Amino acid sequence: MTSESMAAAAGSGDTAFAVAPPQRARLTVDLDVDICVVGAGLAGLTVALEAARTGASVVVLEGRHVGWNASGHHLGTVMPGYALPLPDLIARVGFDDAWELWSLSQQGADYVRAHAAENVIPGLALSEGALEVSNVDAGDRLIGHLQMLSEDFATEVEGWQIDRVRDTLRTGRYFHAVHYPRAFQIDGRRYVHGLAELAGNAGARIFEETPVVSIDPFGIRKRIVTPQARLRASHVVLAGNVHLGGALRRLSDTLLPVWRHAAVTAPLGARLAEVMTFQGSVIDTDGIDHFRIVDGDRLMWAGPETTWEARPERHVGAIRRRIRTIFPQLGTVEIAKVFSGAIGQTVHGMPQIGRLLPGLWVASGFGRQGLNTSAMAGQLIASGMVEGDDRWRLFSPFELVWAGGTPGRAAGYAIGMAARARSAAAGTLARYREQARIRARAREVRLAEANRQAGRE
Ligand SMILES: Cc1cc2nc3c(=O)[nH]c(=O)nc-3n(C[C@H](O)[C@H](O)[C@H](O)COP(=O)(O)OP(=O)(O)OC[C@H]3O[C@@H](n4cnc5c(N)ncnc54)[C@H](O)[C@@H]3O)c2cc1C
Repeated sequence: MTSESMAAAAGSGDTAFAVAPPQRARLTVDLDVDICVVGAGLAGLTVALEAARTGASVVVLEGRHVGWNASGHHLGTVMPGYALPLPDLIARVGFDDAWELWSLSQQGADYVRAHAAENVIPGLALSEGALEVSNVDAGDRLIGHLQMLSEDFATEVEGWQIDRVRDTLRTGRYFHAVHYPRAFQIDGRRYVHGLAELAGNAGARIFEETPVVSIDPFGIRKRIVTPQARLRASHVVLAGNVHLGGALRRLSDTLLPVWRHAAVTAPLGARLAEVMTFQGSVIDTDGIDHFRIVDGDRLMWAGPETTWEARPERHVGAIRRRIRTIFPQLGTVEIAKVFSGAIGQTVHGMPQIGRLLPGLWVASGFGRQGLNTSAMAGQLIASGMVEGDDRWRLFSPFELVWAGGTPGRAAGYAIGMAARARSAAAGTLARYREQARIRARAREVRLAEANRQAGRE
């Protein structure tokens, strides 16, 4: 389950929904449709919207309500790319397919931007730019990475030297950074409800509190069973992420569920501008912190992760400590709101997009980068079903791999913790080396001054 709680009144824009999102009816009558989408998160709603735009009859079945899980509880950062690092993607599929896959991920980001326009989905408080900061002094690696992104993958990026990073983020924890000027952020909760409204306007019917309990995917017409109704459809799209459950257990077992916990602080006033002037998202290369300014003077911060479900309130202390570690000048901040959502991580780090059987499609496993990738998946699958577009085959090398069940979750957590400990150690070492260099330079200056004095005397 996902949850959200307010420790104090939150503000507007990114941190609250001024008007409660609309509620939709349960499905209580049997239906015959072209396309049945399971799950009303970002992925399911984008498929539904794109398919409905072609004139197909589309039904979305949502077990709880629109945006109930991660899709209604994220930080809203939109950038190109996947969880799998680019060099690994090239090693896996070769340069040409890696280029195609990267371009598709950029097209996914462009799709979100086009729908975030004020006349399409209003009030998304769009802000520009994202900074990928390194917590080790890795200037050489950065140059190679920048060259690959800009020269080989036509992505607009900029390298920031340490001084520039620290000018805009007053912390000694970060060194160099890659700036993505075309990345942007939106109010994620409004976006998912905006998508639902657009899909509805295009003709898709969305039913809430209608869990799919079983699917018979064989045969030309698929049979879908819910507690109060049965459907028949030519295509079924599985967009249930980690909660798909018994409807297709073999598929849900290929995802490692990771609960990501996040918070929004109370207004921090002028002291926030003293530690951070960058208005876009900041993401560290070790995947520990992801934060940005919302409502002018609050911080929205995602930090801890668990492989088991836990109330987000339990993580308030950890998020507060993380903020104090990066920006000690802020002291202990007050938290206004906490929330969490479960993301589905695949073993290979790439999303699951494509056709499993004739008429049975999957769109899940989007991990931490779900905005651009789910938008891309929605378009690919809709055009695959309706127009026979087979670009989804680019994802075929990334098969459904069992994520290891309960032992897999324990191992995932242990690996995550070990990786974080390694990153923390590397960061400490990098900061120690930096201090040692500063001390050595100061010693040389003192020595030179003493030699000059001695010469004069
Ligand atoms: C704290 C946090 C911060 C994040 N920040 C970012 C970010 O800044 N940028 C970014 O790109 N990504 C971010 N993400 C990741 C992103 O939110 C997810 O990748 C994305 O929302 C996944 O969308 P989805 O549609 O696949 O899944 P979900 O949001 O999980 O939606 C699936 C839906 O299917 C329904 N469902 C499941 N099974 C059934 C069934 N049997 N019958 C009916 N309905 C069913 C569920 O109830 C659910 O509503 C973040 C995630 C979290 C948790």
